[in-house]
Amino acid sequence: MSIDLHAHTDASDGSLSPTELVELALQQKLSAVGITDHDTIYGWDEAFAAGQKLGVEIVPGVELSTSYAGGRFHLLGYYIDPNSELIQVLERIQAARRNRNGEILDNLRELGLPLEESEVRAFAGENGQLGRPHFAQAMIKRGYVATTQEAFDRYLADGQLAYATKAVLSPQEAIGLIHDAGGVSVWAHPPLNRNFTLEQLEEKLAEWKSWGLDGIETFYSRYTPEETRWAEAARQRFDLLESGGSDWHGQSKPDIKLGETQTGQSVPNRVLDALKQRVQTNRRDAMAQRESESMARK
Ligand code: AMP
Ligand code: ZN
Ligand code: FE
Ligand code: FE
Repeated sequence: MSIDLHAHTDASDGSLSPTELVELALQQKLSAVGITDHDTIYGWDEAFAAGQKLGVEIVPGVELSTSYAGGRFHLLGYYIDPNSELIQVLERIQAARRNRNGEILDNLRELGLPLEESEVRAFAGENGQLGRPHFAQAMIKRGYVATTQEAFDRYLADGQLAYATKAVLSPQEAIGLIHDAGGVSVWAHPPLNRNFTLEQLEEKLAEWKSWGLDGIETFYSRYTPEETRWAEAARQRFDLLESGGSDWHGQSKPDIKLGETQTGQSVPNRVLDALKQRVQTNRRDAMAQRESESMARK
């Protein structure tokens, strides 16, 4: 049995509902699957219910967008408390995203590429959050572009014609919020940010580590052999946990298979064991910290 710690449902821009994703995980013989939607934990409850029914362990997570050093980076938070400040912050980010969707539609209309919100919604879950891959699919359906990649390259990618910024946290804030919520933080697929060389990313990693970063994705479906070697060397140098998965989305990234990483293999079970251990030590550290603070006040 094997695991996959990075997958999206239709709570964000994956094409399957949480129940369907867990069914797929079972088909792929996964013993555990991470639910890591963008900026939302909306899919967790349904995933937990399906996981219990089907005997698949659910690893609750979220993939936060962060802004740093002029770039955008994704940070995964696992095992966060749903009653934490982080979740309140995510609710504000959701509201900002809804505004941003309107801006993207306005931008497209001005470019002579009108879309109705309902056409975009057709590619998303009923109550899931809309993201740019949904806009891309609606643009394909209208015949504006041929592929998702073309939609991003010409219109939707950061800085392109129809792009609208979204409210984001800094990685330092995000790591702090994840820890305050009792979770562990993992830098998702650093090499995917093409504005930085691997050498530059390695320099940045020292800073993320000083903010308390717990782990880095060493397993990832789209890593090249060079990126894989980089991630593993960086992990060792900065004493980080290993993590990763397929980053499965379904329809919008049809070449990615749930449970499969760059090696064609899945993520080994030891990775999840170590993540869970870190949750325990983070929580113990946080409790000790609170106690020493309250002692100091007395
Ligand atoms: P959003 O949540 O609306 O910011 O969209 C984020 C999603 O867009 C991510 O899942 C990425 O897979 C996808 N994405 C972002 N930038 C690009 C890009 N330049 N090319 C292709 N896909 C992208
Ligand atoms: Zn996504
Ligand atoms: Fe990501
Ligand atoms: Fe992802």
